[in-house]
Amino acid sequence: MKSLRVQLAAWYLAFFSALFLVLCVLLYGALSGSMQRRLDETLTSDAGTAAKLLQEELEEMHGDAQGAATDILSELQPSGQVIAVLENTTLLAGGTAAQQEQLALAARAALASSRIETVEALPAWGAHGARAAAHRLSYRNRTFTVLAVESLDSIATDLSALRRMIAVALPLLILVAGAGGYVLTRRGLAPLGSMAEQAKRITSQNLDARLEIGRAASELTLLAASFNELLSRLDQSFEAMRRFVQDASHELRTPLAVIRGEADVALSRDRTAAEYRESLATIQQESQRLSRLVDDLLNLARADAGRVQLRMEELYLNDLVAECCRSVQPLAAARQIELECRATGDVPFRGDEMLLRRMVINLLDNAVRYTQPGGKVCATLEPQAADVRIRIADTGIGIAPEATERVFERFYRADESHSRQQDGFGLGLSIVKWIAESHHGGVELSSQPGAGSTFTVRLARQ
Ligand code: ADP
Repeated sequence: MKSLRVQLAAWYLAFFSALFLVLCVLLYGALSGSMQRRLDETLTSDAGTAAKLLQEELEEMHGDAQGAATDILSELQPSGQVIAVLENTTLLAGGTAAQQEQLALAARAALASSRIETVEALPAWGAHGARAAAHRLSYRNRTFTVLAVESLDSIATDLSALRRMIAVALPLLILVAGAGGYVLTRRGLAPLGSMAEQAKRITSQNLDARLEIGRAASELTLLAASFNELLSRLDQSFEAMRRFVQDASHELRTPLAVIRGEADVALSRDRTAAEYRESLATIQQESQRLSRLVDDLLNLARADAGRVQLRMEELYLNDLVAECCRSVQPLAAARQIELECRATGDVPFRGDEMLLRRMVINLLDNAVRYTQPGGKVCATLEPQAADVRIRIADTGIGIAPEATERVFERFYRADESHSRQQDGFGLGLSIVKWIAESHHGGVELSSQPGAGSTFTVRLARQ
């Protein structure tokens, strides 16, 4: 596994090494170029000065070239460079015997050139050759060349000193840059290590813990914030799961206790057939309640796991609502509640018929159960352009404003005693909400305590 820290430091090192190297090459090139240019300028100007002096001297000495050349050389006394005067390619003065041949070559080159001043490199003049500037002048049909020559040795010495300096400084610079890069990436990435350490200590037991990274780069604080948000969501899900299991066990306990109690009592001594029948009827009733609860729990658990496959089919919502009303009618009649169904006209819809039926029945069942005798329940189907609304309104006990949001939570009962009395588990509305949402819709509630409630389901047309 490659360490990000090492990788970043290596990239940093490679980048700076290349940068330093390019910089050194450019600097070296620029410096050696400028040294040579300066030398050439000096040589050109010295050759020019010497030529001017020679011209004057020739005038004064009436054409005695040898004398004039010797005179100007003793006058100039150049340091570090050689000034030579040649007539055509014959050396009159300046230079040693060894340099004579080269000087003659340089003068020939100068004569061949159309330019008055030329600068040429002279090979084999010292260890690194030499540069020369020539100035040509004519005096009474005679051609003279004044050469200023300087060996490149001193420039070469300076440049080699520079090279040595670069050779020592470059690795040092690279070393410092590498170490700096390592320290910087180490410091920059330190919060990641601390985050990993903290994350390792978080288990299902302390999901309320959060990552602390203090002051760090914005990317890392963003990462920590996202991680903390994830933890919050996990914490909420865990909490919801815990509550669900707790509530479910609690709800299962009551019917089981009734069944067991009833069986214990029936078996404690001999009973009459009527008594046994009564006990069995109670057990049957509680078992039915129990299997209804288990069905609901199973459905919700499947829905949570996203494992419910909707069986979509074409249906008529008006028929579906009318049939639901018909099946709740006996319960409404038994409770002397008027049940009205306003679902006329064909409303074609694509959805899961069984689930939609379950949803409408849950709402109608609630409306009837939570309405006093003499009250009224009305189911209305309202087709709209983009969706279809199913409205179930009752004139029942209503729901307090603080409970309107919570009635859709699992196991929540707005009116505990009443609801239990009505055989409710507090799961009906959460199932309604899930079914509506799985059809890309939702459910809304408006209610006034004492005056009644209206549940409006919105189903998107697919
Ligand atoms: P339950 O099985 O207890 O009825 P629900 O999830 O269907 O569970 O409803 C949750 C709670 O909402 C109920 O306990 C009840 O207090 C309240 N409720 C639901 N429907 C109505 C209604 N039509 N009128 C008044 N209260 C209602």
